[in-house]
Amino acid sequence: MSKKIVILGAGYGGVLAALNVRKHFSKSEAEVTVINKYPTHQIITELHRLAAGNVSEQAVAMPLTKLFKGLDIDLKIAEVESFSVDNKEIKLGDGSTLTYDALVVGLGSVTAYFGIPGLEENSMVLKSAADANKIYKHVEERISEYAKTKNEADATILIGGGGLTGVELVGELADIMPKLTRKYGVDPKAVKLKLVEAGPKILPVLPDHLIERATSSLEARGVEFLTGLPVTNVEGNTIDLKDGQKVVANTFVWTGGVQGNPLVGESGLEVNRGRATVNDFLQSTSHKDVFVAGDSAVVFGPEGRPYPPTAQIAWQMGELIGYNLYAFLENKDLETFSPVNSGTLASLGRKDAVATIGANSTPLKGLPASLMKEASNVRYLTHIKGLFSLAY
Ligand code: NAD
Repeated sequence: MSKKIVILGAGYGGVLAALNVRKHFSKSEAEVTVINKYPTHQIITELHRLAAGNVSEQAVAMPLTKLFKGLDIDLKIAEVESFSVDNKEIKLGDGSTLTYDALVVGLGSVTAYFGIPGLEENSMVLKSAADANKIYKHVEERISEYAKTKNEADATILIGGGGLTGVELVGELADIMPKLTRKYGVDPKAVKLKLVEAGPKILPVLPDHLIERATSSLEARGVEFLTGLPVTNVEGNTIDLKDGQKVVANTFVWTGGVQGNPLVGESGLEVNRGRATVNDFLQSTSHKDVFVAGDSAVVFGPEGRPYPPTAQIAWQMGELIGYNLYAFLENKDLETFSPVNSGTLASLGRKDAVATIGANSTPLKGLPASLMKEASNVRYLTHIKGLFSLAY
């Protein structure tokens, strides 16, 4: 009898699981259903470019119908309202329910606001192509408004959080400012592009000499860093920092962290701080018929530390799950997860980047690092296209 596989989410984990499972199961052997709230697979590692109008939406949002064409994958564009792993039931926003023989949870993460008053209501985020479009449109409107009113808040852009998301975004915005200010006849010096970081330094995952390099590269393009200063409160366009200073900014993007999708915590799966715990085969530790990919899971590496919630880990998880779904449903041996860490790449705008590459964390900066960043995106796209053509 045909097995029912349901995959929640078409991010890196979900898409790779879907493409890979179809290499092992024909249509008559397994029905594969993918549920996603958007009709596109979003390359979220490139969203900062869209948020500054530096790439087209098509470059970061690939239609799922195209990606799954000819693969007999049943695609449902709907929001998962809830799912229960004890009842094997998924409820969708359109009122329908689904059941499964094996489930993949790849619902990603959500923005963490840490209970900071006023933060969620008064900030934008960068989690989807729609968010990126909104940021770009908003920034352009504020600069055009400043040209008319000279209201300083319109020319002030604050990024909250100096992790990879915040730094990549500020680098891209710094690059477009000369063009944008010229377009609206605004003095470029009037624009205040600031990034606030609670910790003592930005990009704490990188070694100090690369942090210094990133800081000087961005400062040279007009970015001001406020480090060691947590955001404590937000009211309207006024952002309070821990030392008592207030930043009045009509553009405020919050990139201060992510947390597990709350649906995972409410599903009955065993979780650790809101993310599902999994065994070496990426199966839930509480429910063997559920595999968990990407940011929805917490996976501990050999040193006992959890892997960071990154795209490169998510897609390797999805790929393994594609095979393990088949092994699980056909009572074969499951494979263990041992990801390759290709390093950390932080883009600093169109022409600059810093990176640590490979297992030895070889440092790289400038054009070679930019090219590596470009190459890693191309490698991902080539990889999914390769899987697509391998599946029948
Ligand atoms: P993050 O958690 O890595 O960084 C958030 C930053 O916000 C931290 O430095 C934190 O100290 C700061 N922060 C938290 N509370 C604050 C406050 N109240 N005020 C000011 N600052 C505050 O989040 P991220 O940058 O969105 O990254 C999430 C994950 O995605 C990470 O694992 C990251 O490695 C990954 N990522 C990778 C890339 C890449 O590889 N190029 C790009 C983006 C994200």
